[in-house]
Amino acid sequence: MRLRRALLVSCAALALAASALAQGWLDRVPPEIHGEVPARAPAGEPLTVRFSASEPVAYTLAYGGETWEAVVQNLFVLRVRPGEHALVVTATDGAGNETRVAYTVTGVGAPAAELHVTERARAGDPVSVRVTLPEPPAEVVSVRLGGEALPTFAADAVEGGAGRSVVALGAVPLSAAGTLDVEVVVRDPFGRERTLKRALEVAAEARPVQELGLTPEALGALSDENREAEAAALREAYRGAAPDPLWREPFILPTEGVNTSAFGLPRRYAVSGAVSFHQGADIAAPQGTPIVATNDGVVLLTGFYPIKGGLTVIDHGGGVSSLYFHQAVMVVTPGQRVRRGERIGEVGSTGLATGPHLHWEMRVNAVPTDPLAWVGRLLP
Ligand SMILES: [Zn+2]
Repeated sequence: MRLRRALLVSCAALALAASALAQGWLDRVPPEIHGEVPARAPAGEPLTVRFSASEPVAYTLAYGGETWEAVVQNLFVLRVRPGEHALVVTATDGAGNETRVAYTVTGVGAPAAELHVTERARAGDPVSVRVTLPEPPAEVVSVRLGGEALPTFAADAVEGGAGRSVVALGAVPLSAAGTLDVEVVVRDPFGRERTLKRALEVAAEARPVQELGLTPEALGALSDENREAEAAALREAYRGAAPDPLWREPFILPTEGVNTSAFGLPRRYAVSGAVSFHQGADIAAPQGTPIVATNDGVVLLTGFYPIKGGLTVIDHGGGVSSLYFHQAVMVVTPGQRVRRGERIGEVGSTGLATGPHLHWEMRVNAVPTDPLAWVGRLLP
């Protein structure tokens, strides 16, 4: 009997509770809410946050010292503060039940990046542009030197560390004078871009014109047809170049001898002829003197050409290549991996040469730079 009465009472209580629920009083069930709040957002920018609830509610929102009191809307537009701030939302239903949820929003500042550019630069020098990207992660969109876009690679390809640096190698054009603009664009995960600029001072150097006084027979080799054929062979060879640096140590001199003609010298092949610039460094040495690879790399091209003579091109990755002209003998073949200091050929006077010497070039993105500027130096 007692049990039955108890059941009856509880049934009555349930019915009462149900009607009370329907009327909104005696409701003890807090609302369930769900919010769309990102953990990170760009600081200083407007941020829209949305909430949804299991029943009609009023929201109170507190963020970064500001409060929005008891509003019925479920959409808020905040101004993101820099750094970590709590965003606390309180939803209150018609019966006064509250649900409080706290989020943390990190306001991320403009993409931070540091720019390190080679300090010493003369016309024809290689230039290294290093962009260091601390947290938050940003990416390098472009690196330009004097308006020219440079290919980039991750610095850890050289350093072996887990660095957050991106490097580009370039060359100061021989025609450069005054300053050369370095411009780097970085972009953060929110799509914000930032441009970093540096003006690279280019030291002026006076260079006397060198008269080569070539014979008419020798000049015959300098036909447009020969030049174009050799340039085309190089362009084709460069298609196989590796994007990341293959070297780990400084570059070395490829042969022992006497430096007879420096890089960048203006010269005339014949009296009253046009002035052109010497694109490599000449090292005079007896016929047969060994030539070694200036650094680790992969052979891109070997062959005999009317102007360059016995030519070997080695790709060092990262846009850097070395070229060896006028060789008498070549002992490597395209596709072959070579080590720094490994013998690749012998000094000769093949092609357009006035005597046995090595014409050595160091190119960055196919632009010739001063080879001697690389010796003993670990770029980037
Ligand atoms: Zn030369």
